[in-house]
Amino acid sequence: MADVKVLKNYINGEWVDSEAKEFVDVYNPATGELIAKVPLSTREEFDHAAEIAQEAFESWSRVSIPRRAKYFFRLQNILEDNREELAELITLENGKTLADARGEVGRGIENVEHASAVMNLMMGDSIANAATDVEITTYKYPIGVIGGITPFNFPMMVPFWMFPMALVTGNTMVMKPSERTPLLMEKIIELTEEAGFPKGILNVVYGAHDVVNGILQNPIIKGVSFVGSEPVGRYVYQEGTKHMKRVQALTGAKNHTIVLNDADIEDALPKIRGGAFGSAGQRCMAASVLLVEDGIYDEFMERFIADAKEIVIGDGMDDTTFLGPVIRKENQERTFEYIKKAEESGANVILDGRENIPENGFFVGPTIVENVETDMDIWKDEIFAPFVSVMRVKDLKEAVEISNSHNLANGACLFSNDARSIRYFRENMDAGMLGINLGVPAPMAWFPFSGWKDSFYGDLHVNGKDGVEFYTHVKTVTAQYRTNKI
Ligand code: NAD
Repeated sequence: MADVKVLKNYINGEWVDSEAKEFVDVYNPATGELIAKVPLSTREEFDHAAEIAQEAFESWSRVSIPRRAKYFFRLQNILEDNREELAELITLENGKTLADARGEVGRGIENVEHASAVMNLMMGDSIANAATDVEITTYKYPIGVIGGITPFNFPMMVPFWMFPMALVTGNTMVMKPSERTPLLMEKIIELTEEAGFPKGILNVVYGAHDVVNGILQNPIIKGVSFVGSEPVGRYVYQEGTKHMKRVQALTGAKNHTIVLNDADIEDALPKIRGGAFGSAGQRCMAASVLLVEDGIYDEFMERFIADAKEIVIGDGMDDTTFLGPVIRKENQERTFEYIKKAEESGANVILDGRENIPENGFFVGPTIVENVETDMDIWKDEIFAPFVSVMRVKDLKEAVEISNSHNLANGACLFSNDARSIRYFRENMDAGMLGINLGVPAPMAWFPFSGWKDSFYGDLHVNGKDGVEFYTHVKTVTAQYRTNKI
């Protein structure tokens, strides 16, 4: 382990060596090279961090909101100055292209801007005359220590969905970053130190199951923000609520994109290419199923396939690359298994991601599979790779029915310029984030990231007003002042 960086936990404003017995290797997925080791910290280490966060809560929760917001104004400026370095770090550990990584950095900064302007959203309601001389007012208070559990695919954006809003509303935190992309959080902490964040309000404990179970079971933790796969999110929601915590769990996805006969193919093609193959398909808003209306099917598919064949695969650090690697060898092998399953189940593999890929690193080429049916695993499962399942549909109604029969319902897109079809889609599609003539309709920070069905467990989403409500509870004061005595 001599010359490979070993990550430390960050507790009470200090970097501390973990007492972990096990460490996980962190790779550059574009080369397969080992770049760091991350500790699988113990439950005791987590419990200690939770106690520190609890102590810090006592003072931080009493700091005025504008003063708390000022830390985020400072952080916003510092992030702006570090945009490129952050993007390069994302590409190094995640594999996505620099263009995608730059977009991710922008999304993270957006969350800091949302948090900096939290004053208006922290206002309560009041009524002056509820009964004779009676007034009622609500006030919002932070809930306590929050545990944040994040996935590998957005090592910057997803932590920024959590800690800026949690902290600015007066809570303190223990973050557990993904063990596959842990480096970005280390950099974020350096930048929060530069912004002068007080010790103990934001702590990081690296690890996996033991730390997650600490978050879910330790009574100090009052709220849990989770983003990751569906089975883990289901467990996190069930275990966290069993221990009487407030939990929001944003989970897996299988997003359907509908292309109608009147779609503008010229406009749609690059957007659908980006939605399907951008970030190597490792987005919870990826366009993983295409439903193409009969009348446009042949023309659209011919151009979509020709376009996909031109995709440049390689190291995301190279500005000419469009498609970087998937995160680990296991993810590459798992995707190859799905290509095999597609062949065995009678679907038609038009473009095979096992072919023409770089030798080193964990690459999967753009994969397009036609004649997919809803009883096939390739339709049912989230593959999370540059793998698109295509179905021919007779009309919009059939497309919506197919989409709605899936248990995952994060997002859905429609390519059309017909007002009646757009309205039908909006009113009938049971998914939480819809896109009209867009490939990846991820809402900006001021709006909730609002997955439905098994793509989200909880009540209040991250971001928008929901984010503020999730991290606060309301005190309602009813008071009577006898004015007839004046
Ligand atoms: P993952 O579920 O494997 O890991 C997420 C987090 O949970 C990590 O921090 C990991 O350490 C922890 N974890 C994993 N297995 C665990 C277990 N058995 N017990 C306790 N903790 C465990 O997810 P991932 O592969 O890192 O991320 C990809 C997934 O995240 C995809 O399913 C994607 O759709 C989803 N995602 C969803 C959203 C959304 O907004 N809905 C956003 C981004 C990613």
